[in-house]
Amino acid sequence: SSTPMAPLEPSNLLEPVYRNVADNLDVVRKTLDRPLTLAEKVVYGHLDDPTTRAVRGETYLKLRPDRVAMQDATAQMATLQFISAGLPTTQVPTTVHCDHLIAAQEGAGEDLARAKSENAEVYDFLSSASSKYGMGFWRPGSGIIHQIVLENYAFPGGLMIGTDSHTPNAGGLGMVAVGVGGADAVDVMAGLPWELKAPKIIGVKLSGKLTGWASAKDVILKVAGILTVKGGTGAIIEYFGEGVDSLSCTGMGTICNMGAEIGATTSIFPYNSRMGDYLNATGRQGIASLAETYSENLRADDSAVYDQIIEVDLSTLEPHVNGPFTPDLAHPLSQFKAAVEKQGWPPELTVGLIGSCTNSSYEDMSRSASIVRQALDKGVKSKSLFNITPGSEQVRATIARDGIIDTFEETGGTVLANACGPCIGQWNRSDVPKGTPNSIVTSFNRNFSMRNDGNPQTHTFITSPELVTAMALSGRLDFNPLTDELTAADGSSFKLELPKGDELPARGYDPGEDTFQPPMEDASAVKVHVDPSSARLQLLEPFQAWNGSDYEDLPILIKALGKCTTDHISMAGPWLKYRGHLDNISNNMLIGAVNAENGEINSVKNSLTGEYGAVPDVARAYKAAGVQWVVVGDENYGEGSSREHAALEPRHLGGVAVLVRSFARIHETNLKKQGMLPLTFATPEDYDKIDPEDKLSITGLSTFAPGVPLSVVVKKPGGVTLNVTVNHTFNADQIEWFKAGSALNKIKSDLLS
Ligand code: SF4
Repeated sequence: SSTPMAPLEPSNLLEPVYRNVADNLDVVRKTLDRPLTLAEKVVYGHLDDPTTRAVRGETYLKLRPDRVAMQDATAQMATLQFISAGLPTTQVPTTVHCDHLIAAQEGAGEDLARAKSENAEVYDFLSSASSKYGMGFWRPGSGIIHQIVLENYAFPGGLMIGTDSHTPNAGGLGMVAVGVGGADAVDVMAGLPWELKAPKIIGVKLSGKLTGWASAKDVILKVAGILTVKGGTGAIIEYFGEGVDSLSCTGMGTICNMGAEIGATTSIFPYNSRMGDYLNATGRQGIASLAETYSENLRADDSAVYDQIIEVDLSTLEPHVNGPFTPDLAHPLSQFKAAVEKQGWPPELTVGLIGSCTNSSYEDMSRSASIVRQALDKGVKSKSLFNITPGSEQVRATIARDGIIDTFEETGGTVLANACGPCIGQWNRSDVPKGTPNSIVTSFNRNFSMRNDGNPQTHTFITSPELVTAMALSGRLDFNPLTDELTAADGSSFKLELPKGDELPARGYDPGEDTFQPPMEDASAVKVHVDPSSARLQLLEPFQAWNGSDYEDLPILIKALGKCTTDHISMAGPWLKYRGHLDNISNNMLIGAVNAENGEINSVKNSLTGEYGAVPDVARAYKAAGVQWVVVGDENYGEGSSREHAALEPRHLGGVAVLVRSFARIHETNLKKQGMLPLTFATPEDYDKIDPEDKLSITGLSTFAPGVPLSVVVKKPGGVTLNVTVNHTFNADQIEWFKAGSALNKIKSDLLS
């Protein structure tokens, strides 16, 4: 079959992928000799070595993803790293999406124009790099990464990684789609396998059929309440049961999208006719028919075993409202009014927001518009401010053509750019002064304090777009359309009827403006421009290779006390704009870590001068003096996000090792990739024997080998020394990264040899 994985990439064919998965599964079945879940079929079907015996929750798997997607905030550093590897082109189909850097303020047109001008340098860089290295580039205004992926690239049974935590949205089309850090994306783009611990599998059995005001969103709002924000950690959530067929494909996408809120690796649905309908509507009939042919590998085996099973009866599922401040605080609608009163949450609703990557399908928009129309017919407009974020240009153009945008604007709504906007705090909100307690309700996925508008007093609740719309019409957070009435212009009272909408547009999708820049066939003439004086972008210099000697008498930059997450090591917030400039973002290195010596943050002693200074400043002083240094840390050092900046920054400022009681695994791997030595105390109590003014020598490097501990000689200021044994988890390949100076240096030298 000549069917491509994506119509926009005609030369990447789908059938070889399906055949390869089938061949791999033949081998896997012989090894495991038991029924497989769908998630296992997709994951194990992409093993680099299918003879690997996968044990859920234990084995580290090396996988070969089918594609990579990156959003503009994370793509900058990933692309810079890829460039420094010196490869001519990406080895796996890759796309870049401009969605995170567009701030909402006045409305789509003005906001997009402002973003294009403010971020021109970043967009030009990503665009030229995409052309040069064979990546598809979606310009600002095209839409949100996950919606574009669903519309164009996701396919049943595929494996993709994306540098954004809501990448699992593509599970709505039967894909195992996992959010990762930029370093993982670079590996895959460079042709290396991607490592993942074999996930546990949580089954969610759906029975019955949604009724009344309940929607797909309520499935995940309910599941989030059951599993909580940590319940999915290390697991794939796999939906099954007869209830699945009553959900639309985009509804399944919504459910998978918000699986990120329970910490799940990803979520997935089995292939069914609803996915087929969506593939047909988005011009991918060939994929639907190939999926039918290979459907056995796109659903779980009968009697597949799950690590845990949750049952949800859709027929009795109530609409839910979750929040505030955490997405797992689930309230069935019938109990929400009482909760609002009891907790004293501000009952007036200031703003209702619908759309985002989570809930901006045609179905969502048309159902919401049906409610607005009922109210308009009674002379009622929205009492709250009402913002609409279309997830893609295709959705925007289609709902514009079908009069839905007119309906939203008639009620006083503002249509924002096809971008993340208020969902990621890119919202110049002016209706409520900062610090004022207020309530907003969104159809988004996250509601941590300050996420949307930077105001810790904003109480954000999450629900379906239909319910957001009904609440906005009433102006009340505690409005329940099942029991409460609205007042018509003539003074009479009326109840909203059930939302109605089309799953797919009857007249087909309108693609809207063409915002896609395809990968170039011959990019030899393309120059990737990075202004050397730029504050936001900086080409990376390769890190120096190891010089073959042990490290002697290294100062401890900081002995970190207690929790030290990737946010402590490389803060987000205002630093987001420097994500493409390693030297500038390094000014946030470890500024959140607590110094064990004085209990202060961002205040460490410079061992050369005896003066105290900010952590990055002292590190720079050491670097300028040619002095390498180490960090000492506590338990689970580097937990949190997979942000590679937390490993790049210490390496850039002259660090060589991080010695801790224990590591968060992803950060440990990231340090290895950048040529650092992540080491753990063989005896955790040795952490207490090290003082911030000690000097450390790391010995045994000339015989550095997997499974063989290293030694650290600790020299006290008075001259006393003690020996500490330290462990490492380097395998033979990773030791080569260390010797080469970084994993990318190693890839590059392999390529040249
Ligand atoms: Fe992330 Fe929100 Fe953008 Fe979705 S819309 S990709 S959740 S920031």
